Amino acid sequence: LAIKKQHDVVVIGGGPGGYIAAIKAAQLGFDTACIEKRGRLGGTCLNVGCIPSKALLNNSHLYHQMKTDAKQRGIDVNGSVDINVEQFQKAKDTVVKQLTGGIEMLFKKNKVTYYKGNGSFEDVNNVKVSPLEGLEGTVPEEVVIEAKNIIIATGSEVTPFPGITIDEERIISSTGALSLKEIPKRMAIIGGGIIGLEMGSVYSRLGSKVTVLEFQPQIGASMDGEVANSTQKFLKKQGIDFKLSTKVVSAERKGDVVDISVEDTKSGKKEDLQADVLLVAVGRRPYIQGLEAEKIGLDVDKRGRLVIDEQFNTKFPNIKVIGDVTFGPMLAHKAEEEGVAAAEYLKTGHGHVNYNNIPSVMYSHPEVAWVGKTEEQLKEAGISYKVGKFPFIANSRAKTNLDTEGFVKILIDSETERLLGAHIIGPNAGEMIAEAGLALEYGASAEDIARVCHAHPTLSEAFKEANMAAYDKPLNF
Ligand code: FAD
Repeated sequence: LAIKKQHDVVVIGGGPGGYIAAIKAAQLGFDTACIEKRGRLGGTCLNVGCIPSKALLNNSHLYHQMKTDAKQRGIDVNGSVDINVEQFQKAKDTVVKQLTGGIEMLFKKNKVTYYKGNGSFEDVNNVKVSPLEGLEGTVPEEVVIEAKNIIIATGSEVTPFPGITIDEERIISSTGALSLKEIPKRMAIIGGGIIGLEMGSVYSRLGSKVTVLEFQPQIGASMDGEVANSTQKFLKKQGIDFKLSTKVVSAERKGDVVDISVEDTKSGKKEDLQADVLLVAVGRRPYIQGLEAEKIGLDVDKRGRLVIDEQFNTKFPNIKVIGDVTFGPMLAHKAEEEGVAAAEYLKTGHGHVNYNNIPSVMYSHPEVAWVGKTEEQLKEAGISYKVGKFPFIANSRAKTNLDTEGFVKILIDSETERLLGAHIIGPNAGEMIAEAGLALEYGASAEDIARVCHAHPTLSEAFKEANMAAYDKPLNF
């Protein structure tokens, strides 16, 4: 017989969406529980996503700088600069452990009850937690939780490529790419989206010859077209090869190599390639395995997403869905915003996420970050706009840092001069884009932004000057 429990709010999934929803609900006074089956909190993001990838990106960048850039900065490295793959991976694992452990502490602090096990629907009001074999600290036996409200935040998983078997050794997903034991000589990547390009950057810096195979004529998925082209140029300069408009026909591991067949989608020309490692990075898909959503008849759309209304409700008013498993960009901060809003809906009947103001960042070097509309979107919507640009080569801080690649591009409404979109390629673009987000949220005009005093010498002066360029003229270019 299962143990019976009761909670006001039960969150299924402890990723950025779920754990934030649980903490917020508890802070709002609900008796809250969170069910997670991975054994560690933090979901994809902290365990096999944002955090480990950024650890590898940061440390591979430092390595690459020391190797290629130190001399011109007046730093003589006496002795060789080498990568110790084991320690390189360990540094990443340590951060992941600290951060995922940190969420357990936050649960304790906020009095969120944490159930380790698989969460599945018994019926519309009851969720069963089943123990999982081999999972340390799993619930000792089945627990059935009667919950007034349920929030589903089960996230996403790697989208497989039809006909290609991932073995996580030679043919890998992003998860395998985060823990390779040696640096491959040749790495091919299917997919020129953010995840593919970030992992490509890591291994290219560590010495792999990286080739990106992309079906579309452009990399960078939802990037502004001009920014995507510039991004491709700087990555190419760093040694990454691109085959765009290229369809992967097949890929097969033969011993220690992977044979790949591709076809040019324009000319139909076929080509065979070889790689030591093939990374399949064609996206992620919603994950509801083991949830038994069908038992209660939750609606799922053609792309596997759980269907909700604008208040995150399924057809059952007591069941909400947030994060990667439903509509919208698959980003950790989007899931978190929804987690907060979903909890607030429960308490007050109001919650808010501005889907026009969700930044995207690619953590290459230089970084690429954007928020709001792209030029292509504005053209399609028939909105009349003006463009302001400012290159980092004219920014004093970028100059002093010997880090001048890229530019800030600002899109404003022709008439009102309000900010519509901001696109940055440059050092620290991921941090700088927050200023654009704030401006967008408060409906600032380019002049409003340009009249705010920015510290000198900082990279964010380039943001200010690009806004000047949008409505008038920049001063330093
Ligand atoms: P998830 O993080 O997927 O969490 C869902 C959790 O639910 C999982 O831990 C899963 O075990 C658990 N679960 C599922 N079903 C059940 C069940 N039935 N019972 C109990 N538990 C269950 N996003 C960014 O914003 N910035 C980045 O830099 C970034 N980098 C990324 C890099 C990589 C390599 C990858 C793969 C992703 C990256 N992402 C990034 C995307 C980001 O990880 C996701 O958008 C985010 O994790 C989504 O959060 P979530 O809470 O919706 O789902």
